[in-house]
Parts: sequence; C-alpha cells; structure tokens
Amino acid sequence: MSDVWLLFAILGVFYLVEGLWWAPREAVSFSRALSGAFTSATPILFRRDSRSGAIPPRHLVARGERFLCCGWSVIISPRGIGSLQDDLAPWLRYEETGALSASGCRLLYGGKTFARVASAGAARELLRWLRELSRDEPHRRSEKIVDAIDRMLDHSTARRRVRGMRWLVRGSRWLPLVLFANLFVLAPGLLAFFGGWIWSVPASLHAVLSAIAVVFFFRTDKILYRDRRDDRFSHVLTILLYPPAAVRYAELLSRDLLAGLHPLAVAAALDRKTLTELAREAVVDSRRRVPKETEDAAWFRRTCEERVLLALKRYGLDPRALEEAPQPEGGAVAYCPRCHAQYRSGIDDCVDCEGMALVEHRAG
Ligand SMILES: [Zn+2]
Repeated sequence: MSDVWLLFAILGVFYLVEGLWWAPREAVSFSRALSGAFTSATPILFRRDSRSGAIPPRHLVARGERFLCCGWSVIISPRGIGSLQDDLAPWLRYEETGALSASGCRLLYGGKTFARVASAGAARELLRWLRELSRDEPHRRSEKIVDAIDRMLDHSTARRRVRGMRWLVRGSRWLPLVLFANLFVLAPGLLAFFGGWIWSVPASLHAVLSAIAVVFFFRTDKILYRDRRDDRFSHVLTILLYPPAAVRYAELLSRDLLAGLHPLAVAAALDRKTLTELAREAVVDSRRRVPKETEDAAWFRRTCEERVLLALKRYGLDPRALEEAPQPEGGAVAYCPRCHAQYRSGIDDCVDCEGMALVEHRAG
C-alpha cells in the first residue's frame, strides 16, 4: 500500500472512531437515514456489568440529526437521592447534595462517579435541579419530582427541538456530504490520478469547507446551547484542526439536543418501531419483582412506572396490545415476552433479558 492510500485508510479509521459515542448503558441513540426514517442504537458493552459502552455510527455520512438520550440515572425520592447505576454509591440526604459536582457527563460525589448522563449539559441541568429541590420544603418535593419525570417523558419537546434544529440548519444540509466527498472521494481520486503534487487542491478545499462549517456550527450552537461556551470553543478548534471531526461537525450540533429527555419520549417523536420495543420492555419490567429494594427506591420506581404508563397512552399506545405474542418465525417454538426474540426448543430463558423466562408459541 502506498503512503497516500495508507494516509486515507488512517483518516477513514479516525473518522469511524470519531463517530463512536461513549455513553451510559441506559442510553439510546437515534439517527436519521437518507430515507428520512430514524433508527435507534444502544451501547455495545465490553463486559456484561459495564456501566457504559460504545455506540457506533449507523450511517456512513454524518449528516447530523443523530441524537443521544438516556434513561433514569438517579433515584430521587422526597427524602434523598441515590444512584441507579452504582449499587455501591451512597444514599444522599438533601443536605448532602451540596457536595455533588458535575464533571463532563458525570455527577461526582467525593471525587467518585455517582451517576452518568447523556451530556455535560444534562449533568449540569440535573445538578442545578437537585440543588433547587434541596431548598424546597420536603412536602413539595414529591410533586416536583413527578413534574420532572413528566418533562423527561414529554415527546412534544423532542418533536419541537428536532423541528427547530432542522429549520436552523436548513441552509447547510449539503455541507457534511460535500466535506465527506472531498475527503474520502475527491482527494484520494485526484491523488491517484494526478500524483502527490495535487494535494494542495483538496487540502485547500477542505480548509474552505471547514471554515464554512465553523461559521454554521458557531451560529447554530449558540442558539441551541446557550450555556456551553467553553465546549463551543473547543469544538470549533477541533473542527478547524482535525479533518475527521470537521466531516462530523453536524453531529456535534445534534448529539446533545435531546440529552435531557427519556428514550421513550424521543422514540415517540421520531421512531415508532423503537417506541414499541422500549414500551414493551417498560411494561414487562414494571411487573417484575425487584429484590432487596429500599423504601425510597421503591417509591421512585413505582412513580416512574405510573408516569410511563400514562405517557404511553399519550403516545397513542395500548399497553395490552404491546404484549400480544409475535408471529412465530423460522421454526421458533418460544419467544421472550420482553424483547420478542424468538427461540427454537432447548432454551428456557432469554439470552438478552436477564432472568426472563420464555413463553411457548401456541399451536395453530
Ligand atoms: Zn428478551
């Protein structure tokens, strides 16, 4: 392989790595395909008990409209706060929440990770809200917690934000595709045909295109995320200096737009197929027995389940219809009632859903 091809192969790998999102295990990403439909992806965990994993990009050209959101990360009761992701994290009374801090996508307590959320903005927002809650009278907290859960489940917020972003980037939709074509099609083609002396043509074109990307990025980011000033400047530098990031600049804009919303709400707004799957999991999970649960954790779980069931009705879903048996496929004799994976004989439990017993297909 010549040096030129090696360089483009390395750039291609960096471009793919740049598209990997490290996210909490409860996170779901939604991305729009060329067809206009959204598809979802969840983190690939490198160990079964990993608290976070990598979400690979679903589409080759990063045209934006790829969003990351996350399920519940903390247990919040009127009496205090616990971590849903770490069994060893301490239970905090509201007087102790002053010791919590936000660092990137994490909430820290005593220098250790207390909870992971989908974005730095979502971590700051959660911290701000927890401090506000700590100043409230205890009897008002339960009402505020229910309101916050409802806000996370509000699909109209997701729809409004996605529409707003689409309108803001309407003049620059062509740019990610042109950046991609210049770096991975035009540049290697020119170099292969004319030789190394022509490198300055695609390089100059990339410099001009990435400068335009910075202008679009800066302008849109300022409107979408008023409080991320420091991150904005570091993103601008990355776009200018690192070509794989420049090609993915539109994803830097979209990634955190829906970070504070629950995956069910985002799916209800963008992707009905994923909504059905997530909703079925939520309904089945709400009936599973939870061993060794504290009183506060049980209050939060029951409250979330209640609000989720109400939200499913607002999304136009019938919880009973979600649990209807799937059509048997390819000689399957049983299915998982939670994820609807189908199985042949000889297996009792679903391999993906821990402790979930399979249900036999009815004959005929
Ligand atoms: Zn399953």
